[in-house]
Amino acid sequence: MSFNTSVTRGGIEYTPAFVMEIDQSNCIGCGRCFKVCPRDVFDLVERDDVPGLEAEGDYDDYDDYDDDDDGLSDDTAMVMSLKDAMDCIGCGSCARICPKKCFSHEPLAA
Ligand code: SF4
Ligand code: SF4
Repeated sequence: MSFNTSVTRGGIEYTPAFVMEIDQSNCIGCGRCFKVCPRDVFDLVERDDVPGLEAEGDYDDYDDYDDDDDGLSDDTAMVMSLKDAMDCIGCGSCARICPKKCFSHEPLAA
């Protein structure tokens, strides 16, 4: 199977890997992926609003990763969600920045 490719400014070919899924049961809602994403892919939502997720979860880990400069509430358990996966350009930044390895990416079949 061949995959959709692009090229760098220098003409080097690469294969974009598009976001497919977030493991919300593992997400601590730190917001790092939201901050690095150049597109409008993510939305931070309350864990209580996601069916099957409980406010407790891994949220205890949050303080280990909280930068405290994100303007996000530290009092409400949050989790990242996919708002518009079709806007992803496959840069992979979210996967690189995520401290909990929540992301799944796949190339696009040509
Ligand atoms: S791969 Fe890039 S564009 Fe796609 S969701 Fe992650 S950071 Fe955003
Ligand atoms: S970087 Fe990872 S742990 Fe942090 S909000 Fe995004 S998916 Fe969740």
